[in-house]
Formats: sequence, C-alpha cells, structure tokens
Amino acid sequence: MNKNIGVCGLDCSKCDCYQATVKDDDSLREKTARKWEKEYSHPGINPEDLNCLGCNSEGPWYEHCFKCSYRLCAKEKNLTSCSQCEDYPCEAIVKFHSQVPGTKENCEAARN
Ligand code: SF4
Ligand code: SF4
Repeated sequence: MNKNIGVCGLDCSKCDCYQATVKDDDSLREKTARKWEKEYSHPGINPEDLNCLGCNSEGPWYEHCFKCSYRLCAKEKNLTSCSQCEDYPCEAIVKFHSQVPGTKENCEAARN
C-alpha cells in the first residue's frame, strides 16, 4: 500500500475513511462512523460525510481533517508537512506525536 502522509505525519492511506472513499464502500463508511462516534465521543456522525483522500490531496476531505489545527498552521506557512517547518517540532506536534504511534517516524522520514 502506498503511503499518503498527512501534514501531521498520519498515514492517511491507512485511515478507514480513506479506504471507504477509494473503494466507495458504504458498509465501511457506516462501520467507521459508528467506530469514530465511540472513539471520539462524537455522536451523530453521518456515514455519507465520510469521503476523504487525505489532507494533502486535492480532496475530498473529511470535515474535521480539513479544519485540523496542524493543517491550518502549516497551510499558513505554505507548507504541506510539519516536517518542513522551521519550528518543528513545536510543542503541539510533539504532544500529538507522543499520542499517535508512527506519526513522528513519518515526519522524521520526510525530513531526511
Ligand atoms: S485527512 Fe482524511 S484520510 Fe487522512 S486521517 Fe483525516 S479523514 Fe483520514
Ligand atoms: S508550528 Fe507546529 S503545527 Fe505548525 S506547521 Fe510547524 S510543526 Fe506543524
């Protein structure tokens, strides 16, 4: 599977929303919506909104990822990855990387 690394270092190609979009799979959309509702304590996710090809793609984007603070911060600096930032690693991204396995490694790899 090709990697599709988001601004923060997430591999969007591994995201269920990305997979549901690429495969146009409504049952995976439904399953993912219910899973995210529990994981993120965010009731009422509409499976029809789960369409995203990654935050560095030309779209579509999932609403939350489009508004993601790391993405907005990088965009303001005209960057597509935190790894390109002169302030990397800032406090916010250090915290995120400590919470989400693999993201730091993806950012470090992009820097080298
Ligand atoms: S940007 Fe899209 S593909 Fe990437 S993690 Fe967010 S929802 Fe998933
Ligand atoms: S300041 Fe932090 S969140 Fe913003 S682009 Fe730089 S590393 Fe990413």
